[in-house]
Amino acid sequence: NYMTSQEIRAQFLEFFKSKQHTIVPSAPMVIKNDPTLMFTNAGMNQFKEFFLGNSDPKSTRVTDTQKCLRVSGKHNDLEEVGMDTYHHTMFEMLGNWSFGDYFKEEAIAWAWELLTEVFKVDKDILYVTIFEGDESEGLEKDMEAYNIWKKHIPEDRILLGNKKDNFWEMGDQGPCGPCSEIHIDIRSAEEKAKISGKDLVNHDHPQVVEIWNLVFMQFNRKANGSLESLPAKHVDTGMGFERLCMVLQGKQSNYDTDVFTPLLAKIEAVTKNAYGKDEEKNIAMRVIADHIRAVAFAIADGQLPSNTGAGYVIRRILRRAIRYGFSFLNMTEPFIYELVQTLSDQMSVAFPELKSQQNLIVNVVKEEEQSFLRTLEQGLQLLENVISETEGKQVSGAKAFELYDTFGFPIDLTALILRERGYTLDEAAFEAALQEQKERSRAATKVATGDWTVLIDTKDETFVGYDTLTAAVHITKYRKV
Ligand code: ATP
Ligand code: MG
Ligand code: MG
Ligand code: MG
Repeated sequence: NYMTSQEIRAQFLEFFKSKQHTIVPSAPMVIKNDPTLMFTNAGMNQFKEFFLGNSDPKSTRVTDTQKCLRVSGKHNDLEEVGMDTYHHTMFEMLGNWSFGDYFKEEAIAWAWELLTEVFKVDKDILYVTIFEGDESEGLEKDMEAYNIWKKHIPEDRILLGNKKDNFWEMGDQGPCGPCSEIHIDIRSAEEKAKISGKDLVNHDHPQVVEIWNLVFMQFNRKANGSLESLPAKHVDTGMGFERLCMVLQGKQSNYDTDVFTPLLAKIEAVTKNAYGKDEEKNIAMRVIADHIRAVAFAIADGQLPSNTGAGYVIRRILRRAIRYGFSFLNMTEPFIYELVQTLSDQMSVAFPELKSQQNLIVNVVKEEEQSFLRTLEQGLQLLENVISETEGKQVSGAKAFELYDTFGFPIDLTALILRERGYTLDEAAFEAALQEQKERSRAATKVATGDWTVLIDTKDETFVGYDTLTAAVHITKYRKV
């Protein structure tokens, strides 16, 4: 009895409806009217005003699935995407909320009931974490959550987490509180047989994956940094939909669920490459399957690729996909636009905007592919010239920077090609040139780390990550998954 992703999404919502929650639609993934945030990065974003007490919700219990994008600011998972099998750029976050209504007791009991009774997840592969406390803040260990979990799960499966992982804050000020996360152990039986005792409870393992975060907002951080108790306490939960599908469909990777298999099958057919044979190609195929979702949902929300702000982020995501196709799947002609139909067939039941905007998405993606592939070809030619002018085996950092900066040729591609041709790159000189350019544009940029002071800024801070040399190194040292 295999549950499809459609059924899983529907059951989640139905479950919370049966607990008197109102089902609400996803907010747009692209945020147009909030100067502190470009993209929705968590389910709670659209409810910010309720938590701040600036407006009152129609219903004190709501549930939904929220389109999220984590490629900038506090949550930037881009470098992980494709390398691991459970971080995406765009993903759905399933959530349930209490605005001053129920608190820890119900939130924990219902999460447990849904996972173990409705979805029938084996209790022996679940772990939970609770906040261990923080002396410097005078915060105590969350014994309340601990004692509630004890009713459901053996104590050795309740692990302590620090402030970084288990204390959530909206920003420098405002509502905050401890959280409790549910993790799932998807190591194979074979692998588990090799370990025993304490090692069985090890949530640092890459195949012990966080699936659900239950946040308990019980404090308010004041302007002077001190904490006071909130008069009305709230619950904010977020569960990764694709990760849940992985668990319920008995897979080891989000990409093996029916959320992604149609896309991967299409990529296989169009590029004439097989998924699962060669790790470099696997990564490329995962990157493309992931990125087309981010790009298509963004365009459906009205955000076209462009040279500034949110549009620039979307353009860079699409170009990253094109480049992976170009470098690892030998795709020198546009092909990513062909995935849009597949995506729309798969997702438009839940997100009809994909169908209604389908033609626009196809056209925009195809045009971007054509133009960036031309850039790549010209860059290759220019790189050939640089190589032929190079004496010895080290290519100048300044020349590589010029290719990158003036012609838009990705530096990791330069590094890759040089490596293949037996050349090295003067990386220190390249980094120095890059640093210099960043200094020049930094003036306009404000960096902050809270959920609500996430930067909107020039290209450098938001997105420099993947086409620096660090990213090139990353490609060759990917984790075997
Ligand atoms: P992780 O530690 O795995 O990066 P997180 O702690 O950053 O996750 P939260 O901010 O707690 O994630 O978000 C709630 C849930 O959303 C997570 O428990 C996870 O299931 C899911 N999630 C978070 N980031 C991603 C992502 N990039 N892709 C897919 N699902 C994600
Ligand atoms: Mg994260
Ligand atoms: Mg986490
Ligand atoms: Mg978390």
